[in-house]
Amino acid sequence: MNSSLSIEERITAIKQTLPEGVRLVAVSKFQSSEAIVQAYEAGQRVFGESRVQELIAKYDELGPLYLDLCWHFIGPLQSNKVKYIAPFINMIESVTSEKLLQEINRQAIKNQRCIDILLEVHIAQEETKGGLNREELFELLRELRLFPDKYRGVRIRGLMMMASNTSNEEQVEREFAALAHLMQDIKGRGLVCDVDVFDELSMGMSNDYHLALKQGATLVRLGSAVFGV
Ligand SMILES: *Cc1c(COP(=O)(O)O)cnc(C)c1O
Repeated sequence: MNSSLSIEERITAIKQTLPEGVRLVAVSKFQSSEAIVQAYEAGQRVFGESRVQELIAKYDELGPLYLDLCWHFIGPLQSNKVKYIAPFINMIESVTSEKLLQEINRQAIKNQRCIDILLEVHIAQEETKGGLNREELFELLRELRLFPDKYRGVRIRGLMMMASNTSNEEQVEREFAALAHLMQDIKGRGLVCDVDVFDELSMGMSNDYHLALKQGATLVRLGSAVFGV
């Protein structure tokens, strides 16, 4: 996108490309609070952050002023840091292990909250990308299905992934299609109790979200497309 555009112009242009029902997560990591406020004033409400320290600093500054601002955590999350974000986080998109899930659940209950989560799935070719493999995912879903009372602090809203970082668009689109297929498979097998809220597919970043939309993304996570570089 043209780098001379304002944040407001970028958001307006992006929103015109999003089908009804698809939500934009403005990835604000490394962005200043002023940039976030500009996006907020352009109507943006959901922001994605990938570092706990940075998120807490921004929440402390902006939270009291902008009460309807929503935060999604999208990066690697250490279990011992969950307690810092559990009081206010709206969604944790990057749940990659049972240990992490249990800690989110524990901290949510402690805070008398129920936290929306996505299970991050490893589909890309690259080993560097995180996420649960198919077996781990199904095992985790089985555990959640068996012990709903134990896991009352979390609500499984869907799946998240990062596609391979490649210019091969066919491959990237196949990877997005695989996540959409996985979700149908999970629903078909009755692996989630609350099928009605298991409806989010978080996939697509600035470079590839046009492909993710074709495959049914409901959340797109855009950083540079919203804020420039
Ligand atoms: C940084 C980041 C994004 C946004 O990347 P852009 O290429 O700037 O759109 C999306 N998802 C995750 C998990 C990220 O870490």
